[in-house]
Amino acid sequence: MPEGKIIKALSGFYYVIDKDDNVTQCRGRGNFRKNKITPLVGDHVVFQAENDQEGYIMEVLKRKNELVRPPIANVDQAILVFSAVEPDFNPGLLNRFLVLVESNEITPLICITKIDLLQDAESEEIAEYVKDYQSIGYSVLLTSSETEEGLEILKPHLQDQISVFAGQSGVGKSSLLNAIDPELQLKTSGISSHLGRGKHTTRHVELIKIGNGLVADTPGFSSLEFQELEVEQLGHCFPEISKASQDCKFRGCLHMNEPKCAVKEAVEMGDIASYRYDSYKQFFEEIKDRKPRY
Ligand code: GDP
Ligand code: ZN
Repeated sequence: MPEGKIIKALSGFYYVIDKDDNVTQCRGRGNFRKNKITPLVGDHVVFQAENDQEGYIMEVLKRKNELVRPPIANVDQAILVFSAVEPDFNPGLLNRFLVLVESNEITPLICITKIDLLQDAESEEIAEYVKDYQSIGYSVLLTSSETEEGLEILKPHLQDQISVFAGQSGVGKSSLLNAIDPELQLKTSGISSHLGRGKHTTRHVELIKIGNGLVADTPGFSSLEFQELEVEQLGHCFPEISKASQDCKFRGCLHMNEPKCAVKEAVEMGDIASYRYDSYKQFFEEIKDRKPRY
């Protein structure tokens, strides 16, 4: 039986794209229904074709992960879009997105856009941040939808996987997607646009084919709370803290008030950026209290 990926779910129908890009409109029929599994956009499924256009989903293959808002399965990569200016680059928020992405086993790609608007002094500041994040091991791209700078570098990153764009409203997510694929014509900076849509609207997420990759038309991580995360796991979501923690004296050191903490030493030495450790402490308290701040 053929396999494919669900790219859209609407009114009880699932639209499944196969490796040749044929889309089959399917209804659910397989025994996954017994286990109360509702097929999600992004699901890898086995289906039975009735004819060229219609068929039945017989099996939903095991999910690698599952986002809640918007509901989408098997996300491989999150493009974390931040504007260099308008609004100003926000490292605290980037750290928050990175933790959410890492804890869902999604690979982050940091994309700093609107670089055409940068003045010289601001450019230097952004360059420092880029250096910091790259030294942690993250991929960072600088782009502009206005001048199209960096877009040729971004495009290959979207191939062969499912990506979601994430980031605050107004940072330039829709503009980037439109610049990459002019046929998309997502509305920019309008409340009716898919990517800029208000928080409380029901979302019908859809995957769009860009080259050989699939990209969600609705931004991921609309909830920025650490619902599933425990304080013990937080350090693993900061690669540089995770690495330094191997030399902590206390077994199970949480790098808060323990003596001979290698993480705190690395912060003092300047090997770990203080704004990264500050985010760690802030998220730690937040998880401990489970008091959402967003
Ligand atoms: P979204 O809410 O993240 O999807 O952001 P939009 O794509 O709607 O962009 C918000 C605003 O920023 C719009 O007015 C865009 O024209 C503008 N914008 C987006 N990207 C760029 C860019 O690279 N350079 C400049 N100068 N403006 C941009
Ligand atoms: Zn420690």
